[in-house]
Amino acid sequence: MSAKILLATHNKGKVLEFRRMFDQVTLSVCSLSDLGISDSIPEDGDTLKANALAKALGYARRAGLPTISDDSGLEVDALGGAPSVRSARFAGEHASDAENNAKLLGMLGSRQDRKARFRCVLCFVDPGRSAEDPVAYAEGVCEGRILLEPGGSGGFGYDPIFQPDGKERSMAALPAAEKNQISHRAAAFRVMKETLQGYFVLQNLS
Ligand code: IMP
Repeated sequence: MSAKILLATHNKGKVLEFRRMFDQVTLSVCSLSDLGISDSIPEDGDTLKANALAKALGYARRAGLPTISDDSGLEVDALGGAPSVRSARFAGEHASDAENNAKLLGMLGSRQDRKARFRCVLCFVDPGRSAEDPVAYAEGVCEGRILLEPGGSGGFGYDPIFQPDGKERSMAALPAAEKNQISHRAAAFRVMKETLQGYFVLQNLS
């Protein structure tokens, strides 16, 4: 039987993408909803890394399982790197993806400088260790630009208004498998995969 790892996110879009990525490794991944965990860990850190750690530790302790978390966001150069860590709540505490996209497009208006990137920080923790023990992080970015209007119906979040470099359409217009090759999340996961494989091999040996 393959070892179990908890995916510490309530975001359905992230869960879908991670499930495809975990197909590449011999681990059985379960989500918070699979375990009936519905409460949220506050994401009030100043950095993606701080929020990723808070989520990984919080949910690992609740579930007693090795846990991987994701904190991610969009950085727009013309907005000084915003919304970044506030991406999910850019237009307000419970803002919808459409409201966040509309606010961002409104702030950029017709500006020419539309350079932006998605950034993802993954954090992996073992519930058996204390918070001071080393935990593993991995980071990935996906460079691109903000479109003038939304397009496409796939993905989630800011995908409809983000065009990755080298692509002719929005992230939301790409097939899921194509997003999973170029995304910030996929880039971070490629790095984390090595750590996960090493960790679970050692667990089986001990
Ligand atoms: P958090 O990581 O839960 O704080 O939320 C991340 C927010 O960043 C999401 O709610 C989206 O608005 C945005 N985001 C992160 N990754 C993606 C992505 O792959 N596509 C589009 N938006 C994303």
